[in-house]
Amino acid sequence: MNQPTEVIRKSFGLKEEVKPQLEASYHSPLIEKIKANGFSLRAGRLTFRLAQEFGFCYGVDRAIDYAYETKAKFPGRRIFLTNEIIHNQRVNAKLQEIGIQFLYGPYASGFSIEDIQKDDVVIVPAFGAMVNEMSELQKKGCVIVDTTCGSVMRVGKRVDSDGRDRFTALIHGKYDHEETRATSSRSLQYDGGSYLVVRDKPQAQLVCDYIEGRTSKEVFMREFRKATSPGFDPDRDLERIGCANQTTMLSSESLEIANMLQESMKRRYGAETLADRFRHFDTICSATQDRQDAILKLAAEGVDLMIVVGGYNSSNTGHLVEISQQYCPAYHVKDAGCIVSQSLIQHKRVFSPETMETSPWLPDGPLKIGITAGASTPNRVVEEVIKRIIEVAGKNRSGDLVCINCGQILEERQCKARCTRCGYFEDCSDGMSDHPNQL
Ligand code: SF4
Repeated sequence: MNQPTEVIRKSFGLKEEVKPQLEASYHSPLIEKIKANGFSLRAGRLTFRLAQEFGFCYGVDRAIDYAYETKAKFPGRRIFLTNEIIHNQRVNAKLQEIGIQFLYGPYASGFSIEDIQKDDVVIVPAFGAMVNEMSELQKKGCVIVDTTCGSVMRVGKRVDSDGRDRFTALIHGKYDHEETRATSSRSLQYDGGSYLVVRDKPQAQLVCDYIEGRTSKEVFMREFRKATSPGFDPDRDLERIGCANQTTMLSSESLEIANMLQESMKRRYGAETLADRFRHFDTICSATQDRQDAILKLAAEGVDLMIVVGGYNSSNTGHLVEISQQYCPAYHVKDAGCIVSQSLIQHKRVFSPETMETSPWLPDGPLKIGITAGASTPNRVVEEVIKRIIEVAGKNRSGDLVCINCGQILEERQCKARCTRCGYFEDCSDGMSDHPNQL
């Protein structure tokens, strides 16, 4: 039997050593320049407005730092991640490039926890890991570097105390999201512990209907068959409920769901017993809240369209699109490759895993384009998207090169050249782009 290991949850002090690698892969001089210019960039007829809060959050920054530091600390050792470190293809691919292998998820290497040896190093991603995975790893005696975000741990502690007190953890989230799988697993540490994952308001309404006797057990179990703990019995397990949420959900929806359930429990059991039967704790993380607040502010400012950059399986990115589309056309793109041309964009359909194409998407004339990015999107990817939009706007629908400002057809695109029609001065001399970057 191997000695159980200590779980490392802090930096190895190698931040400066890995900084050049991180900057080369994820940093963006253009984004820094835009921020310094009041979060605004003008390129001819296009004005880009960047949300005040976007991109990498504190939890993601820390997880990526620790992964690179782990590689620097243990050269020559096998290093594994239990799953995607965050929902970003480029970041996961970079980690593969530096020799980190994945146990599960879309990048799985073919190794599993069974194959872990005591000399191996295993990194737990920002989403956390399920309780049984953690205990299996600890039995292996390997080094465990746990990058679980503090905000995810906070939800876990809440679910722990609900489980201990025999409250069913009712989690507003996605049952198959890594964070929610890790969080919900904590309720099973206790005898009789149970959980139920509710995706949205219609599902919350179904729970209320069951509590108040308006729907059958069969209908309930059919809807939640994948989203409940083993042996879940709604008659028994909905008598006491502790509400929490996946950290990256839409905060307004989480609040509404908690209110719906609170009112339902009151109607079913009476207001006087509520304290013994219902608990609610808002576990949306501050980074998610800040990004949602910033997009609301940007949308209220008035933009013609919004580009939201982020992985298609990123929950927090999806919610930024959901908010934006209430104000203007909003396109969820994963990277610059989605900006096909001035007339065609590929993007993810909101509320659906499917992708779609929209044509046309970039109207003629002066345009204010809002830009934001999910918490797992590197600034480098945002920069590439902005540059690509400028590039496609520099061609008309027939493929002719045009002045980025007035659309006059050009013989060739030149740096530091003035349009003979509108006088607009194109300048790509900042060295960051082949395209004009007028701030
Ligand atoms: S989105 Fe929130 S909970 Fe998730 S890693 Fe970032 S800060 Fe942590």
